[in-house]
Amino acid sequence: MFIDTHAHLDFPELQSHLEAVLQNAALAKVTYINTIGIDAATNQNAVRIAEKYDNVYASVGWHPHDAARADSNLENHIRELAKHPKVVAIGEIGLDYFRDLSPRDIQRDIFARMLKLANELDLPVIIHCRDAYQDLFKILRENLTEKSRGGFHCFSGGIAELREVLEMGFLVSYTGNITYKNSILIPTVKATPIDKTMLETDCPFMTPHPHRGKRNEPAYVPLIASKLAEVKELTIDDIARVTSYNAYKLFGIGTSPERSITYQIRNSLYIALTSRCTNKCSFCRRYTEPFVKGHNIGMSRSEEPSAGEIMTAVGDPSTYEEIVFCGYGEPTLRLETMLEVSKRLKDSGVKRIRLNTNGQSDLIHRRDIVPDLVGLIDTVSISLNESTADKYQNIVNSNFGSEAFNALIEFAKRCVTSLPEVIFTVVSYPGVDLEGCRAIADRVGAKFRIREYNEVG
Ligand SMILES: [Zn+2]
Ligand SMILES: [Zn+2]
Repeated sequence: MFIDTHAHLDFPELQSHLEAVLQNAALAKVTYINTIGIDAATNQNAVRIAEKYDNVYASVGWHPHDAARADSNLENHIRELAKHPKVVAIGEIGLDYFRDLSPRDIQRDIFARMLKLANELDLPVIIHCRDAYQDLFKILRENLTEKSRGGFHCFSGGIAELREVLEMGFLVSYTGNITYKNSILIPTVKATPIDKTMLETDCPFMTPHPHRGKRNEPAYVPLIASKLAEVKELTIDDIARVTSYNAYKLFGIGTSPERSITYQIRNSLYIALTSRCTNKCSFCRRYTEPFVKGHNIGMSRSEEPSAGEIMTAVGDPSTYEEIVFCGYGEPTLRLETMLEVSKRLKDSGVKRIRLNTNGQSDLIHRRDIVPDLVGLIDTVSISLNESTADKYQNIVNSNFGSEAFNALIEFAKRCVTSLPEVIFTVVSYPGVDLEGCRAIADRVGAKFRIREYNEVG
């Protein structure tokens, strides 16, 4: 399922055969479309189309190109339309110094007025920005409130602009221009956390390759998704799921994913055994938002799955490259269940089973569990996090206090002697002693992997 978060369905090229356009979208699994207004007439059209079609939502705004045409009634016009339950955002709004179709001071004034209105209505904004980032960021910052949220559509900024967008908590959406040969946007796309990315066509403009030069339509979203999958080294299913969840969170379009015991990312199948953990890491999202790459994996203690439930959820394990015990909790807290599932998976021919752990099982079980893992777990991936006991405890807040770090190191050493593969992972949080961590991995004989701190899963 895909969501086209930015389309202009009322433009003549699309409006003239809208039924066919919507049918094409459905066939391409583009389930929801957000159609965008740019001035009084198109705002009204957008709402009218959203009213007619269940899967179409509308956004109403005032494009910077048309800033000079706005009058004092602008706010009332938008307020009136925004009462409609299918209006999900204020947009598009922004600044365009590339085409300069309205005087810049008027563009800035209208943009600020629209931001204030979005705050008043508590709606997200959809921002259009061309060659005007510094002015735009300034106005946006002046109008930010606790609840401000939104997305930069057809994002064309560089890494520095991206950082600023992310720092304000905003998302970006990418369009067909990322599919063009030698697109200069690729480094920016690569640097964008997938959790902050949405898809859009901006149709009828920005037609993706290989239809460039022809009319664009929502059915082409998968072409953009496929390019994104290539750049982000994910599958197109991953892209579809994560970007849809992002659009759901921002605009309320679609539905929230149901909780799942197993979840696929790339070709790996992950199993969530528990959400309990002996750590309380500063960066962990299990309390605030227990989602990973669009999968909802939070659970209470009473919802923890049995071995039988897990096996049912796994289905046919032969379709995956590896099975991973992970989730937002510490898998070894459910050692018995984990071992039973591993045994059943091994019996059915699974070659690679990985355990992602905080390495504190010695303290959890008051004994050495490594012998139990032999023959069942092929890879143990341990979150090392930092290079000394103090710094480690600062980040993870282990229930076991200062004992935790040494226990982790001792556990890792025994894993290295008994199991095929042991990896230390470190999240590249600002200030983390990566080289110190790498030295520990070398000393223990474990492999070393750095994880981007803004990419979960
Ligand atoms: Zn635009
Ligand atoms: Zn647009």
